[in-house]
Amino acid sequence: MLQEYPLLCQKRDQALIALVLAALLFLSYPPSAVMFKSLFYFPRASGSSSSLHTPSLVRWSRHVAPLSSPTELQTPRPRRFAGATPLPGAGSHDSPLTVFTSSDCLGHHILGHPESPQRLQQLLNTSVTTSRELGFPVHHSMARATKDNLERVHDRKYVERMYHLFQEMQERASPLPLDGDTTLSQGTEVAALRAAGIVVQAVDAVLGRAPLPEGQTAPRRAFAMVRPPGHHAEPDKAMGFCIFNNVMVGCAHAQSPLHGMAHTTAARVAVLDFDVHHGNGDQAMCWDHRDRFYASTHQAPLFPGTGAATETGAYDNVVNVPLVHGAGSQEFRAAWRDVILPRVTAFAPDLVMISAGFDGHWRDPLANLALDEADFYWVTKEIVQVAETVSAGRVVSVLEGGYDIEALGSSVSEHLRALHES
Ligand SMILES: [Zn+2]
Repeated sequence: MLQEYPLLCQKRDQALIALVLAALLFLSYPPSAVMFKSLFYFPRASGSSSSLHTPSLVRWSRHVAPLSSPTELQTPRPRRFAGATPLPGAGSHDSPLTVFTSSDCLGHHILGHPESPQRLQQLLNTSVTTSRELGFPVHHSMARATKDNLERVHDRKYVERMYHLFQEMQERASPLPLDGDTTLSQGTEVAALRAAGIVVQAVDAVLGRAPLPEGQTAPRRAFAMVRPPGHHAEPDKAMGFCIFNNVMVGCAHAQSPLHGMAHTTAARVAVLDFDVHHGNGDQAMCWDHRDRFYASTHQAPLFPGTGAATETGAYDNVVNVPLVHGAGSQEFRAAWRDVILPRVTAFAPDLVMISAGFDGHWRDPLANLALDEADFYWVTKEIVQVAETVSAGRVVSVLEGGYDIEALGSSVSEHLRALHES
């Protein structure tokens, strides 16, 4: 007993220390409403836009994404817009791809939330390496979406409400929850308008609307590396971490003739979504537009509860391929190869856009598919090959989800590699 006593004593001390550390951690990162509201999933009947049982995007059934610490992220202080810079020269001689991004998108920050600035910080870090290795340019943009841009897909009342809330946030010290998943912080205004504006800028670059320095060519492909994500945002509602629907703002902009540049209009646009969650916002904004096509693979059942195979759009212009819990490479690739891509070819878009979510990765904490980096490389390559045959290779890809920081970094690298090589 005498020999054991010091050991027991140490164990008791260790237990006490662990208890104190746990208490400190709890005080530093109090569990958010997101965590409590997200323990259960309630499927939603397709077509209904809201319900008391609206499921939460976040399911903490697996491990929780690493919490972001404000000190390690170098999050810039939110700032007002100083004005947009001219469109970049964009096209590199060596690569058909240009990446558009902004560190201002780091400014949207809700403590303890899985859609953290750390996601973009990881991509800003890894894209430097990938860009050096492959030779595509990364353009740090000052673009911001205008009200006109947003009102092409969102209701005017909704846009006005968000601008009003942005104003309110300037005076407010604490975050403002819009629902159980989606919250405004002081930096949200700049980040959200920057995100949608960057997609508009990327569309302009790929459609050849941007003035170019002599000798440079417009990029045929672009990746908008932005946050907050967008594909759950509906015409009149923020949801699922999304404030404005970035990819659809870009889609509507592509379809709008610019004065004196009618030849750069993309009359028909296909929006392809491989995020693990169904893009209810993308679908709603494509549904009754015969010149828009939307297709998605997603885990089902899962947030947001829409995306049944029977949801086919007003003009048979929507294709949904739900995948079951645990589905992997084989099911995912079969859905794209056998079902979706032939429909894209038949639709013959002038521009292909991608809602590029990487939360189907097996490591992702919010879902349960078993994809890996090779699957994201493969699907990107396949999409680009179809685009080569129908839309002169024009592809604008927009970042959506992906909540395991390392898996997101390596998956986006493979996505960029495929966009660069194809
Ligand atoms: Zn997602």
